[in-house]
Amino acid sequence: MSRKWNMIVDVERCDNCRVCFLAVKDEHNGNDFPGYAAAQPAQGHKWLDIVRKERGAYPLVEAHFMPVMCNHCDDAPCMKAAKNGAVTRRPDGIVIIDPEKAKGQRQIVEACPYGAVYWNEERQIPQAWIFDAHLLDAGWTQTRAEQCCPTGAFRSLQVEDAEMQRIRAEEGLEVLQPELGTKPRVYYKNLHLMTQCFVGGSVAVDVNGVEECAAGASVVLKQGGREVGRTTTDVFGEWKIDRLPPGSGRYQVEVTGKTGRHVAEFDLGSESRYLGVMKLA
Ligand code: SF4
Ligand code: SF4
Repeated sequence: MSRKWNMIVDVERCDNCRVCFLAVKDEHNGNDFPGYAAAQPAQGHKWLDIVRKERGAYPLVEAHFMPVMCNHCDDAPCMKAAKNGAVTRRPDGIVIIDPEKAKGQRQIVEACPYGAVYWNEERQIPQAWIFDAHLLDAGWTQTRAEQCCPTGAFRSLQVEDAEMQRIRAEEGLEVLQPELGTKPRVYYKNLHLMTQCFVGGSVAVDVNGVEECAAGASVVLKQGGREVGRTTTDVFGEWKIDRLPPGSGRYQVEVTGKTGRHVAEFDLGSESRYLGVMKLA
């Protein structure tokens, strides 16, 4: 068994400072690393990019950010599309597009379902993030993006596959578009912040003719009579239940406070929902 590189990215920790994006630029702009990667062009390439996702509606709105790059897939479509062995997977799992052998092979760009490969017009080569293989081979223990991230959103680790699967299960890690069957080595923590929906609302109660926040009210979310989520309102009377699949249809919400109850129904489409103010009666 050999130990292979994997990267864990925690979406919850990324605040879009883009230092990791700049670190990859700094590493590769104007720098050739023979056998690993030719220099990255000054413009247009995002070997590591940050994707943004907004969820909810006023006043319950969130913005989340997710670094994306080559996933160093175990079953990589780019490898299958390459001719002359131009794309190889090293024993440590890192996928390298050979800057010499890949010359003229534009089909490698199109083969990547994640859009992680960029075409270098000047050099006529496809290029992607190399997991800082040149640095790891020189004894580095972290990638540059990982080293510079102020929030600790990245965690690279070189472990056997069985150990990685154990960590994946233990930490609830996910990969991007698993249905593609490419078996990525980049794993995401809290990916639901990008891919799933939440529903939320505010609960109010009438106290002597004055509307006040209903703190501590119980909120139960049901679908077809089955409970799928439960929470309690905060001091502002607000509540939120997360990890609902987009387009999952009709739900019922039951709010119960000290002085009353409120029942509502709603449909969940492709985006998160704010159900507004619910008055306990
Ligand atoms: S450096 Fe860290 S916090 Fe900043 S954009 Fe990159 S992953 Fe996000
Ligand atoms: S993410 Fe794209 S470029 Fe990277 S290994 Fe997978 S298929 Fe190839």
